Amino acid sequence: MTTLLGCIADDFTGATDLAGLLARSGVRVSLRLGLPKDPPSDTAPFEVIALKCRTAPVDEAVSECRAALAWLKSAGADRFFWKYCSTFDSTDKGNIGPVAEALMADLGATQTIYCPAFPENGRSIFMGNLFVGQQPLAESPMKDHPLTPMRDSNLMRLLEPQVSQPVGLADRLTVARGTDALRERIEALSTDGVAHVVVDAVANDDLGIIAAACCDMPLLTGGSAVAMPLPNIYRADGSLAADAPVATVPDLVPGAVVLSGSCSAMTNAQVAAYSASAPSFQLDPLQLAEGGVGLALDWLVAQPAGSNPLVYATAAPESVRAAQDKLGVAKAGALVEEALAALATAAFEAGIRRFVVAGGETSGAVAQALGLSRLDIGAEIAPGVPWTFSRVKGEDIAITLKSGNFGNEDFFATALSKLED
Ligand code: ADP
Repeated sequence: MTTLLGCIADDFTGATDLAGLLARSGVRVSLRLGLPKDPPSDTAPFEVIALKCRTAPVDEAVSECRAALAWLKSAGADRFFWKYCSTFDSTDKGNIGPVAEALMADLGATQTIYCPAFPENGRSIFMGNLFVGQQPLAESPMKDHPLTPMRDSNLMRLLEPQVSQPVGLADRLTVARGTDALRERIEALSTDGVAHVVVDAVANDDLGIIAAACCDMPLLTGGSAVAMPLPNIYRADGSLAADAPVATVPDLVPGAVVLSGSCSAMTNAQVAAYSASAPSFQLDPLQLAEGGVGLALDWLVAQPAGSNPLVYATAAPESVRAAQDKLGVAKAGALVEEALAALATAAFEAGIRRFVVAGGETSGAVAQALGLSRLDIGAEIAPGVPWTFSRVKGEDIAITLKSGNFGNEDFFATALSKLED
């Protein structure tokens, strides 16, 4: 089927988050991991390409995203979505703005919106300032993120150094007045030459208004949630038929592994909760640097069948900083990612077919190690985190890729029990 909406996500968990929200509509959503090597075939109405370019050098991110855009265009898409994190993870040299400007140029678009809000997950934007729950972004635990520490909450200020064209705001007071008012505001900003419009959203209803007002833009940008209303908008305007199939759940042998490389506050809580009742092993970047992953591999394969063990590098900010001071940020991250990727492969070889993975970069590394190229989207475990199904060496597997901050404290156990349902 011809693709209606082509989406490009800057990391793997962001892509599954977006795909999961689009799949809530019941429509088939296909998620490609990395830039597809072959021309489009067996395409779904909603195609999401997951890149791993959040912290890549700008030139690299831009050229990958442009290649992804070209693939999605050849799949038939004429509307596009650039998905980044709902906490706007980026530095002054970040990729969110440069990629948006490059995609706009390729599409001949003169304006786009920026709406990372995800009210169900506590991400809201008011007067251009991003909040995580009740805290401004720069006061939230995101200020200590290992790769993209967020030290400002104002999206206009965060975006301005990343783009060449003017940045403006459509605030909540306008959004609250409805679709027509928002459209008028965006048009007025366009007349003033504002190419990049940050749009406030504090509640789910705001997202419906924003999506309706902006759905005809060739390019939308944001977190996943502002894309959620799009399938129903396309149904209403007749571009999407009502009866698209959803993914079927494969039969899997018992046994799971939980791998966590996220150091977010929520993942720390999730690791603490799960390790209270399941066998768990903590990876230490310094030990990995000296002795490699052998110890963890030995531990993992020695765990009793059906015990669903956890291996984690998840640690408190002080201990992350200590490892980074000794090894460097990139080296510490890479050691952990490589170790968790090797553990995933070993688990698969040992017969494990269910994988719960925490962390965006971590998920990218694990998915790559398992050789995943395409995922079918299944049931949601928590807002923005679905189970997905794929095949590895001819075997069905289930894998969920959770971005750091998502899910409740009992996410790991909930994920495993949801799969049994
Ligand atoms: P999130 O989704 O929370 O951002 P990511 O996996 O994207 O999680 O990013 C976390 C990064 O921190 C990864 O590169 C990971 O390898 C790295 N990391 C994990 N544990 C540690 C640790 N104990 N010390 C230093 N870096 C770590």
